[in-house]
Amino acid sequence: MKAKIKSKKEVAEDTLEVDFDLLGNTIDFEPGEFFNIDLIDPPYNDDKGHHRHFSIVNSPNEKGIITMVTRERDSAFKQSLADMEPGSEVEIGKIGGKDFTLPEDTGRPLVFIAGGIGIAPFISMIRYAMEEGIAYDIILMYSNRNRESAIFLDELEERAAGNVNLDIILIMTDDPSWEGETRRIDAGLIADYVEDPTSRTYMIAGPPGMNKGIASELEKLAVPKENIMASNFAGY
Ligand SMILES: Cc1cc2nc3c(=O)[nH]c(=O)nc-3n(C[C@H](O)[C@H](O)[C@H](O)COP(=O)(O)OP(=O)(O)OC[C@H]3O[C@@H](n4cnc5c(N)ncnc54)[C@H](O)[C@@H]3O)c2cc1C
Repeated sequence: MKAKIKSKKEVAEDTLEVDFDLLGNTIDFEPGEFFNIDLIDPPYNDDKGHHRHFSIVNSPNEKGIITMVTRERDSAFKQSLADMEPGSEVEIGKIGGKDFTLPEDTGRPLVFIAGGIGIAPFISMIRYAMEEGIAYDIILMYSNRNRESAIFLDELEERAAGNVNLDIILIMTDDPSWEGETRRIDAGLIADYVEDPTSRTYMIAGPPGMNKGIASELEKLAVPKENIMASNFAGY
């Protein structure tokens, strides 16, 4: 389906949020899913091509647009996306990722673990659950280098304030001004914040190495494999 860049804004250090106007069409998706995109007639080219997939960050309740966030890097794709003006055409392809969406069992408590841009699928889930009044019990562990690179920080803090169903553990691994948690996410850190770790389902989104590492830390806490879901942001 053809779509057009509607607007773009810098939402954190070197991080671009892009809204695509679906030109009167709608796309059915579940929070947590991703979309395929091809840039049409981009200004830069390289051998990695013009096709990528990105998690959808808006809620499915917001019709007629698809929103993504990405780090600005030097691939031709990313440079083109940064330079393309609102109104530029793109091709939005298949939606995927049904295996990384909110569980049907709304009573089972969750832990979301996001590395940097890995927050993307979770913000859609959190927005949707809160809009629909679905009281998932969520602990979000969100790791970034520093506050400047952490996307949606203000929104997440606002959403968590006074909300007994959403706890946020912010981790800044390289921020001298940060007085909160700085450790990498391992079994010790998880056990410090999650009471009865085996009672929860874990959803992890980040680069494949991080996801694999955290999954093996969860196994040390006796979390069964079937209660660990991961979305590998390959290429990230
Ligand atoms: C389920 C899923 C969700 C994702 N969601 C997000 C998101 O919300 N935000 C985000 O920023 N990123 C997301 N990503 C990663 C995203 O698709 C990009 O891979 C990533 O942003 C890096 O793009 P790049 O252009 O900077 O990197 P590059 O390294 O230039 O490109 C990476 C992509 O190019 C392909 N590639 C690499 N080398 C070659 C080559 N020589 N020839 C052909 N192809 C090649 C890789 O397979 C990979 O798909 C997601 C990935 C997946 C799988």
